[in-house]
Amino acid sequence: MSNGVAGTTIQHHPSEATLVSQATGTLWQAAAVIVRAHLDCCAQCSATVRLAEAVGGALLDGLPPAPLTSDALQRALDRLDNEGGRALMGRNVSAAQQGAMADRQAHSVLLPGVRNARLRRLAPGIRHAVLLRGPDGEALRLLRVKPGTALPRHSHRGAELTLVLEGAFADETGHYGPGDLAEIAEEMSHRPTAEGAVDCVCLIATQGRLRFGALLSRLFGVVARV
Ligand SMILES: [Zn+2]
Repeated sequence: MSNGVAGTTIQHHPSEATLVSQATGTLWQAAAVIVRAHLDCCAQCSATVRLAEAVGGALLDGLPPAPLTSDALQRALDRLDNEGGRALMGRNVSAAQQGAMADRQAHSVLLPGVRNARLRRLAPGIRHAVLLRGPDGEALRLLRVKPGTALPRHSHRGAELTLVLEGAFADETGHYGPGDLAEIAEEMSHRPTAEGAVDCVCLIATQGRLRFGALLSRLFGVVARV
């Protein structure tokens, strides 16, 4: 893609499902902050989210009132499903819009303070700060990693989204630079390593505790509660 952070090209984007969740306000909080930051530097994904918002609004506007029978809710959900609105189940436009506004506010409040966050040493070459903790173990962290430093191999109990702010890293899924968003699925194991000549600074959203190997789980998972 040609859009992106000044002087760079964004190669990695959120999944379509994640962008639709962002549009409908159903994305978990820490991930929504990261996706919002990506949207700020990615015209392609911004357009996708705007389209999803418009389609969702049009779908709901076009639904006739359902008679209040015992199966009314199910029939309304079926209809949404049939018209491609699965992601909108249980939501209404106003709630989605409110969620999107809240995301923007969280982002605008959070990101200017990111560079000033107090980082603490986690391991040689790795410093971090927890910026946000949400329900069910979700967390948003800022990580600064020295070039050539590898994070311990780990898997997840939930998804992990990483947005590169400065520098670069690579793992089994590819190479990531400023503006790139890495989306790691639940249970996938990977070992990110900072690349290039400058520190890699990332925002990382995780669901649930990370799972490290036996030795590193004592070092990271228990002591540092990464
Ligand atoms: Zn994008």
